[in-house]
Amino acid sequence: MLRRIAHIVAVLAPSFFSAFGAIAQAPFALKEIASGVYAHQGETSLMNRENFGGIANLGAVAGDDCVAVIDTGGSLEQGKAFLAALRAKTQKPICYVINTHAHPDHVFGNGAFVGAGVVFAGHKNLPRALSLRGEHYLAAFRQIMGDALDGTTIVAPTLTIADSTAIDLGGRRIVLQAWRTAHSEADLTALDEKTGTLFAGDLLFLQHVPVVDGSLLGFLDVADRLADIKATRVVPGHGPMVAPWPKALEDERAYLTRLTADLRAAIRKGESVKEAARTAGEEERPKWKLFEDYNARNATAGFAELEWEGP
Ligand SMILES: [Zn+2]
Repeated sequence: MLRRIAHIVAVLAPSFFSAFGAIAQAPFALKEIASGVYAHQGETSLMNRENFGGIANLGAVAGDDCVAVIDTGGSLEQGKAFLAALRAKTQKPICYVINTHAHPDHVFGNGAFVGAGVVFAGHKNLPRALSLRGEHYLAAFRQIMGDALDGTTIVAPTLTIADSTAIDLGGRRIVLQAWRTAHSEADLTALDEKTGTLFAGDLLFLQHVPVVDGSLLGFLDVADRLADIKATRVVPGHGPMVAPWPKALEDERAYLTRLTADLRAAIRKGESVKEAARTAGEEERPKWKLFEDYNARNATAGFAELEWEGP
C-alpha cells in the first residue's frame, strides 16, 4: 500500500521528490515561428526552483551572418538550455543579446551567452536599473529558487539605446526601440523587419496580468503608440507567443484603462491607498492569471502616481 501511494505521489508530483536532491529542467521548447525567427513560451507562473525561472517568452532571429537573442531566461541554467536548443536550430555565431528590460525572468540567463563577439544591448536606462537592483534580485530569488539559481550573474549591456537604432545580422535588420517609462523604466522592443515579427517584451502581456513597475499612465500611452508599429505578429513578454497585431494589445489596454479609472474614482472619494488597492481593477480579475500576485501592487503604484494629478 505504502509503495502504491509513493508511486502515485511520484507520478503526480515529481517535484515533491526532487526537493530532496538535484532537480532537472523540463525540456526547452524552441519553435520557428517565422523564417529564421525562433521563440520559446515561458510558463505563466512565478519564478521558482522547479521552473528554473522559466516564465518569460524568449526569442532569437538568425540573419545571413549571425544571430540576435532576445531575452535569456530566469537563471543561468535556463539560459544554457536556451543556447543548446538554439544551437540545434542554427550554428551561426551569436552577435547580439537584446534585453527588453531589467526584470530577472528576462536577464538572469545572460551569463550563458557571454563570449567573444557577443554584444549585449538594452535601453539606455538598463545599466542603471541592473546596478541598482541586480544584486537585490539575485539575493531575493536565491531564497525562492535555491540551487536552481547557481552560477547566475548580472550582465549589463554595453550597447545602449536612447531612441531607436537598427542592428544588422547580415541581410536582416532588427529595429530596437527604447520607450519612455511604461511597464518599467527600461523597456525596449525589437522588430524583425524581414518577417514583421515584433518582440514586445513586457510592454505586452497576454493572459498573465500586466505588471506595472514604471508608470501606469506611461504604460497606457506606450500601449497606444505600440499599435502604430507596422508588424504582422507579436511575441509578448508573457503568454501565448504568436499573437495577431495590433489586436493583441486590446486586453492589456482594457486592464490598464479600468485600473486607472478605478484609482481616479477612489482618489476622488478620498479612499486610502489600502482601500483602493483592495478594489481597483477587481472587475478584470476573471480575465487574468496571477491577478492575485500583481493587481494590488499595480494599484498601489498607480495610486501614488495618480494622486498627484489633483481633482
Ligand atoms: Zn517578465
